Amino acid sequence: MEKQIWHSILIGGGASGLFCAGSYAAPKLLLEHNKQAGRKLNITGGGKCNFTNLYVKDKAYVCGEKHFCHAALAAFGPQDFVRLLEKAHISYSEKTQGQLFARNAAEITGFLIRRAKENHTEILCGCEVLRITKEHGLFCVQTSRGNYCGKNVVIASGGLSYPQLGASAFAWRAAKELGLETAAPRPALVSLALPSPYNRICRNLAGNSLLAEIRCAKQKERDMLLFTHDGISGPAVLQISLYWQEGEKILVNFLPDVQVQGYLQCHKNRPELFSKILSPFLPARILREWLGEWDVRAADAKKDALLAAARRLNAFACIPVGTGGFRRAEITAGGLNVKQFDARSMECKQQKGLFVIGEALDVGGRLGGFNLHWAWASAKAAAAALAARS
Ligand SMILES: Cc1cc2nc3c(=O)[nH]c(=O)nc-3n(C[C@H](O)[C@H](O)[C@H](O)COP(=O)(O)OP(=O)(O)OC[C@H]3O[C@@H](n4cnc5c(N)ncnc54)[C@H](O)[C@@H]3O)c2cc1C
Repeated sequence: MEKQIWHSILIGGGASGLFCAGSYAAPKLLLEHNKQAGRKLNITGGGKCNFTNLYVKDKAYVCGEKHFCHAALAAFGPQDFVRLLEKAHISYSEKTQGQLFARNAAEITGFLIRRAKENHTEILCGCEVLRITKEHGLFCVQTSRGNYCGKNVVIASGGLSYPQLGASAFAWRAAKELGLETAAPRPALVSLALPSPYNRICRNLAGNSLLAEIRCAKQKERDMLLFTHDGISGPAVLQISLYWQEGEKILVNFLPDVQVQGYLQCHKNRPELFSKILSPFLPARILREWLGEWDVRAADAKKDALLAAARRLNAFACIPVGTGGFRRAEITAGGLNVKQFDARSMECKQQKGLFVIGEALDVGGRLGGFNLHWAWASAKAAAAALAARS
């Protein structure tokens, strides 16, 4: 029997792969190594899937090339995805800062799978893709369930985050075999582990949160910070982790609305501890733990003790010793170097017919629906180009 030659073979049945498959009509094969497609999608946004953000813009992404995301985002905006959901009678609501959530993430996954099937997609689950090679102008995809041939191939295998849900380093391996450049993967939108003795203090405060301002690499985030068993987490920390590189310093202001040095100087004759004096702004227990040896009586405090206490609260500098790792990171920063791809179609410039979409590319979005929006927008860009291929 003659071997079938597919118009296109998509690798990965996650957000970008499913959306791409449903966005053009040619007969195609989608390969997913999990038993079901969209497993990660089902747990996004705490099970409610923060599927886009009304304020999608280039600046919400960290990418190897500054303007790479622009064309795809301009061609497919948040309202375009919303219109598709409305047509499918899937309800959603807006939370803070333009974040749109579904009632149930599984509704979005179900919709994407239906849409892909309606658009001539054969979905093969439990099929691990091992290698891609090019033979006689065709792509040969070697899998745990045999080999498949296609005129076009779309790598939509995502990053390394949440290996417990099927994430793999396939995109990096395939890139190497195909002679393409990658930026090393690193966990992002993830907690940061602090060095000793701060990790111990954080453990004592685990579960407490406060409003903080964090700076790193010219980036500033103001949002909630949560103490964890070995460091810090919460939205402010997750956002800054997108910009943080190993070995870099972070600067945390635990009382961004209080000029602590000036305030303590105004109260320098009081007999109470600094933690008591500052308790109108933060619970005294948090202050006591965090100030540690610098929690002294104001009246007895020497100038350098007052300055040290103020610095610990308003300008705490340290170099994190690590992150929560890929098991806890919401996304993977790094990926296939975008300079090798056409920003309008996500097609590889050197290898026609090879497309890469979603998180496998070196594009990382901020928290708030931006990453799924990138999955949709990059998938749509590839689908438009694939639709035009015979
Ligand atoms: C807990 C959590 C919550 C999140 N919540 C949100 C949110 O609310 N909003 C938001 O914007 N972003 C969120 N994200 C990020 C978002 O899920 C990802 O950015 C997005 O899913 C990336 O889409 P993708 O298609 O590139 O990759 P994925 O969705 O990860 O899909 C990749 C698929 O490829 C499959 N695969 C991998 N290797 C192989 C192989 N060798 N063979 C076959 N199949 C393979 C995987 O099993 C997977 O199904 C969240 C992430 C996590 C981990």
